[in-house]
Amino acid sequence: MKKTFLYLLLSLTFVVLSCGEGGNVERKIVVKAKAKTKKKVERQRPLVPEKPNCIEYHLNANKIFRDGNDVHMEVAREIGVGPFASRDEIKSELNKMVAIDDASYADAFVLDNLTHSTPYLVPRAAELLQEIGYAFQDSLRNKHKSEYSVIVTSVLRTDADIKKLSRRNRNSIKESAHRYGTTVDISYARFSKHDEKDEDVSEYDLKHVLIEVLRDFREQGRCYVKYEIKQGCFHITAR
Ligand SMILES: [Zn+2]
Repeated sequence: MKKTFLYLLLSLTFVVLSCGEGGNVERKIVVKAKAKTKKKVERQRPLVPEKPNCIEYHLNANKIFRDGNDVHMEVAREIGVGPFASRDEIKSELNKMVAIDDASYADAFVLDNLTHSTPYLVPRAAELLQEIGYAFQDSLRNKHKSEYSVIVTSVLRTDADIKKLSRRNRNSIKESAHRYGTTVDISYARFSKHDEKDEDVSEYDLKHVLIEVLRDFREQGRCYVKYEIKQGCFHITAR
C-alpha cells in the first residue's frame, strides 16, 4: 500500500514538473514569435518617418549620414586642390576652382557670411552644390510648399582659418576635407525664405526635405555626407 502511494506521488510530481516545463516551452515559443514580429515591424519602418518628432529626426539623420572623416579625406585628397596655408596661397590655384559667391549660383543656394572659410570649390563640388540647391527647391515645389533655399555655412578653409576656428570649435580638426575645395557645410537648422509674405514651412519639414534630397545624391554615389549635430549642419564632400 505504502509502495503504491509512493509510486502515485512520484508520478504526480513528474506530471506537475512536465506541465511546468511544457508551459515554459510554450511561453518561449510565444516570446520568440513576438520578437520576430517586432523585428519585422522595425524593418518595415521608413527611414524618414512621415511625421517624425525632433528626436526621430536626429536618429534618422544620424543613421543615414554617417560617412566618417576618413572617407571624406580620401576622396578630398584624390579630387581636391590644396591644402593652403593662407588665403594668399589660394590665388596660385584659382584656375582650378570656381567662386561660388558668383551671381550665377545665387538662385541655387544662399552663402552665409563666411567668417572662417573662402567661397572656392573645385568644379565638381560646385556643380554638386548647385544641383543639391535646385533639387531642394524642386522638392518643396512638388510638395506645394513655399520657396526656400539652403544656406551654405562653410566652404574652403585655409590652415590659418582652421587655427582660428579650432580655438572656438574642437571639431574643426586639422584633418579636415574643408582644406581641399571639395567640401561644404549646409545648415539643417536655418533656411532662407524667398518671400516673407509666403506661408512659413516648419524647420522640421524643411529638414525632412533636405534629408531626402541628400539621401538621393548620396545613394547615387555623388557625395559623402556626415550629419554634424553640434554644428547644426550636413558636412558634404563631392566624389
Ligand atoms: Zn564640415
